[in-house]
Amino acid sequence: MISFSPPRIDQKILDEVCNALSSGWITTGPRTKLFEEKITEYAGHKATLCTNSCSTGLELMLKWFGVKKGDEVIVPAYTYAASANVIVHCGAKPVFVDSNSDFNLSIEAVKKAITSKTKVILPVDLAGWPCDYDELNNLVCEESVREYFVSETIEQETLGRILILSDAAHSIGATYKGRKTGVLTDVSVYSFHAVKNITTAEGGAICLNLPKPFDNKAVYDYLKIKSLHGQTKDAFSKNQIGNWRYDIIEAGYKYNMTDVQAAMGLIELERYDRDMIVKRKHIFDSYSEALSKYDWAEVPVYENEIKKSSYHAFLLRIRNISETERDKIIQKIFQREVAVNVHFIPLPMTTFYSNLGNKIEDYPVAYDNFSREISLPVYYDLNDEQINIVIEAVIESVEDVIG
Ligand SMILES: *Cc1c(COP(=O)(O)O)cnc(C)c1O
Repeated sequence: MISFSPPRIDQKILDEVCNALSSGWITTGPRTKLFEEKITEYAGHKATLCTNSCSTGLELMLKWFGVKKGDEVIVPAYTYAASANVIVHCGAKPVFVDSNSDFNLSIEAVKKAITSKTKVILPVDLAGWPCDYDELNNLVCEESVREYFVSETIEQETLGRILILSDAAHSIGATYKGRKTGVLTDVSVYSFHAVKNITTAEGGAICLNLPKPFDNKAVYDYLKIKSLHGQTKDAFSKNQIGNWRYDIIEAGYKYNMTDVQAAMGLIELERYDRDMIVKRKHIFDSYSEALSKYDWAEVPVYENEIKKSSYHAFLLRIRNISETERDKIIQKIFQREVAVNVHFIPLPMTTFYSNLGNKIEDYPVAYDNFSREISLPVYYDLNDEQINIVIEAVIESVEDVIG
């Protein structure tokens, strides 16, 4: 069986995790600090706070901005539940918008969804393909949009407009006009979950890139406290001689990354651009070249003059098929011992979000993308022989079903 997305666990990772374990410091400490610095250096934004997941990172930023009951946050209908659940956790309303054929949220749909209750837009770089950031950044700065914005906290007052909080769970290393995700908008949050391009088993990173007059280092210092029970000193600083006294300035959260996780991340990040991402691109190129020969195959765009993907997920669509036919094709691919997946079931189709009154009929492009989509395996250890097995399995299964 060819698996879908196992992590790359080699001797280097094992050694560094063991080093962290035997260093005597296993929770947040020097390795996490170093990983934060390396991420900042990597993407070029202003400061990075590592967290125990992308979800908690997104939620922390929504709470930092003061998002609460009565507020609205615009989010694509086509995403993983994490992007919308964090909005619900703040008591606010996720306002779904439809997608483009590139799977990302439609700017036209965003424009129509903005109201005086909108506090944040939460775009998702689906499969590692950056959203239209110039259009989004310009939109929130337009005078007519700013006029709508109602400031209720100091942070909202300071920004004076809708915040763009990018769910960059898939898109570390992706570029837009040559710049990496992390610097493309106000705040971007990476995920280091086990299936993501870089993994720490579980983990996330908040990339702060707030405009003036925000002091991103000061925001980092505050978020660090907020992510650790509102305690003014973390365990590592408290452990230094005579430095035991602390204060609690608010009822904060417990969202910190550990040094054991950071040990994995440091190894992964160091070899990411020169090795890991090159391999992912090779897999994308192989699938794309082999499958685009077939009329039924709609292969994803992953490079153009403006954007380059991080090659997170290869979202193949089959032309002119129904959801039922797609499901049949997936069954047949699995019977050929290849694991595939669907990214994602649009949220209005799930029980919770449909019970909130969302209807999939209002998101026709998201539904069309979903109903014809099959995600193929992409991971470091997938070799050329296996890539060919995947391609054969897809071709045979599709032709079995659409005959
Ligand atoms: C994985 C994922 C997340 C959540 O990441 P965690 O680190 O698991 O919290 C958020 N958004 C999208 C689109 C994802 O795929």
